[in-house]
Amino acid sequence: MTYTIERVATLIGAQRLGHAEARISFVLTDSRSLCFPEETLFFALRSNRNDGHQYISELYRRGVRCFVVEEVPTQATNQFGDANFLVVSSTLQALQCLAQRHREAFNIPVVGITGSNGKTMVKEWLYQLLSPQMVITRSPRSYNSQIGVPLSVWLLNSHSQLGVFEAGISQKGEMQALHNIIRPTIAVLTNIGSAHEENFSSAEEKCREKLRLFKGAQVMVYNADDEMVTRLLNETEHKGERLAWSVKNHDAAMRITKIDKQPTHTTIHYIYKGGEPNCFSLPFIDDASVCNSIICATVGLHLGLDASTLNLRMSKLEPVAMRLEVKEGLNGCTLINDSYNSDINSLNIALDFMNRRPDHNGQKRTLVLSDILQSGLPDKELYQEVSNLAEQRGVQKFIGIGPKICANKACIALPERYFFNSVADFIRSDVFKTLHNEVVLLKGARSFGFDQLTEQMVKKVHETTLEVNLNAMVNNLNYYRSLMHPNTKLVCMIKADGYGAGAVEIAKTLQDHRADYLAVAVADEGATLRRNGITSNIMVMNPEMTAFKTIFDYDLEPEVYSFRLLEALIKAAEKEGITGFPVHIKLDTGMHRLGFDPDKDMPRLIERLHNQNALIPKSVFSHFAGADADEFDAFSQSQFERFDAGSKMLQAAFEHHILRHIDNSAGIEHFPQRQLDMCRLGLGLYGINPRNNAIINNVSTLRTTILQMREVKAGDTVGYSRRGTIEHNSVIAAIPIGYADGLNRKLGNRNGYCLVNNQPAQYVGNICMDVAMIDVTGIDCHEGDSVEIFGDNLPVTELSNVLQTIPYEVLTGISNRVNRVYFQD
Ligand SMILES: *Cc1c(COP(=O)(O)O)cnc(C)c1O
Repeated sequence: MTYTIERVATLIGAQRLGHAEARISFVLTDSRSLCFPEETLFFALRSNRNDGHQYISELYRRGVRCFVVEEVPTQATNQFGDANFLVVSSTLQALQCLAQRHREAFNIPVVGITGSNGKTMVKEWLYQLLSPQMVITRSPRSYNSQIGVPLSVWLLNSHSQLGVFEAGISQKGEMQALHNIIRPTIAVLTNIGSAHEENFSSAEEKCREKLRLFKGAQVMVYNADDEMVTRLLNETEHKGERLAWSVKNHDAAMRITKIDKQPTHTTIHYIYKGGEPNCFSLPFIDDASVCNSIICATVGLHLGLDASTLNLRMSKLEPVAMRLEVKEGLNGCTLINDSYNSDINSLNIALDFMNRRPDHNGQKRTLVLSDILQSGLPDKELYQEVSNLAEQRGVQKFIGIGPKICANKACIALPERYFFNSVADFIRSDVFKTLHNEVVLLKGARSFGFDQLTEQMVKKVHETTLEVNLNAMVNNLNYYRSLMHPNTKLVCMIKADGYGAGAVEIAKTLQDHRADYLAVAVADEGATLRRNGITSNIMVMNPEMTAFKTIFDYDLEPEVYSFRLLEALIKAAEKEGITGFPVHIKLDTGMHRLGFDPDKDMPRLIERLHNQNALIPKSVFSHFAGADADEFDAFSQSQFERFDAGSKMLQAAFEHHILRHIDNSAGIEHFPQRQLDMCRLGLGLYGINPRNNAIINNVSTLRTTILQMREVKAGDTVGYSRRGTIEHNSVIAAIPIGYADGLNRKLGNRNGYCLVNNQPAQYVGNICMDVAMIDVTGIDCHEGDSVEIFGDNLPVTELSNVLQTIPYEVLTGISNRVNRVYFQD
């Protein structure tokens, strides 16, 4: 479906400047995701950190001609001659308004899903259950915000027979806008948990806000056993039919009579609207899956699924993989594995992700794609669109797998392309064997067995992996940005290989999110980043005398903390004929580690800098010794005063602006008034608040698996030196992680524990170099089960507390042989 620009202007009530005709098929809010410029309408959104108006020139250069703005760029008439500007008072409201008008054109059932957890699972399972019989348009991934919802609803098109959209809110007042855009005919509340409580005064207030989605819906699906939900719903005027589910209440429309959990599946017995007793089984046993399946069953039955089809499809439900994983592959390949349901919208998002990652040692971009099932489009149209997308997103090599894609190979217009009927055929081929130095995006419908493919392509080093959640890191970044003045710049510290999380992938993500500076410890770390395509400014905190050449060659910006280092740098730069090379001057204001003394050294430092032109001071900074604890507030104050005086002397001696910075993670929070021109964010980025050791958003999870289990009798011992005496008959499991991986030996002998199926299991006996033994007595577990050493469910700070150290040490101690796997939702 396309709209003329004139029609859009009318729909959103904008004043239009420009006369060029245009047809709009795509809306864009993030300039980095541009794909089809001629048909794109860009909404210049403003947040307190960023302003979409800044990107108009760049987008114009790349071919975009239609813009929704709050202010017309001043050069509009001459520089953007053939552009259309639609002027509105709020671009966000205009985006929402356009989606709302678009939604009004559809007279089809629309499911709106809200709740604290499970929204995406319910959405995806409804898709799995219903897509064999109707064309469904749904939110891609978890696009459920004030921006994500309009972008999702915009995807409704003439083929759509059912819409399924998520609505997520984080504060009061947000649901009204989402409701107006989705206008659900079937409204679903999954549950009310404690997540995102911070902006609500109570769970009730949050629940009331969520229930606003129910307004005007014909059908309301919720859990009648949640007393609060039922009570608050009764207080509303919502008149829709109540399709509540309940285990306790015999009058509920969806009465659950029995939930029977078996080792690998659950059978749910139900009576729907007083009809015959029935049941369905699903291949999951956890409580969340059970509740979500009941919700899906209720919606499915309402939409006309019969009980036996429901049961058949429930038994084949697949887990919802939300994550897009980046792993190191064989032969210099990087694998991006996206096992999220294969459809054109999620393909677009995954391609955008691949395209936005900077070039990695000149790796070629390869797409391995299976048939796309149940798209609702005719095959020809579908695969032509796939081809267009792949080409626009910089794919150089296309590998199609499946009968449909083979039959439509003519639609794929990329120069280098290969087609196979099955994954097995592909694995046997030379195309597979010669994959080399490529970024490979694997995107396959689950039934094509892409797991086999990943299995064969991943570099297997060790069963122990550190999972790094890039979304969580971005959320932490934004959390700290929200504490800062919008114009304050940010240095992201990725020294020590990104506090153990792996500097390269972290840097790619931070660059994408426009961090002003990255800071590494030594020059080689900076060179590695440059070789992996990082173009951001990079600061080197400890520029070794032997590494100046690397610093110049790779445009790294050294910290200068002493006259000896300054002289050596000037000499080296002059020898290379370099002028105006940026450096960062460090002052020692009380930490007494590195730095010039602001009381004594300033005149000599200024004079030396004036008498040369090889280097130029770009910033001046110092470091707090105790920003994390109130007891040092007076000392921090004196540090700040010394820094203020010293840095002002330096600035006074130069005409150009020299950036001043002193706040670290703790300082950003504790001394917001001292943020000056720039702040340096370290531990907070990795999800730990250094002031109270609380987890902000957990980034890293260290996992391993159970290798072997055995029963050990009372009186026996476990491990070296017979330290682990067993008092009662026990079950002991061995896990492949030891002190050589960074699992501190002091955690042994029951000083620390890990989690097995979310239950604590103590380390028994001495921890060995590569293996540790844990007590799993009474825990329901098997060989091959996953073990969490620290992470989402066991804060790393618990380990650092036991070890009487700081979380920094535990994180940076994880050795290189532990695989890092990166993912994002
Ligand atoms: C490591 C470091 C930081 C970051 O400190 P956090 O406590 O991790 O925020 C800031 N500045 C300097 C000079 C550092 O060495």
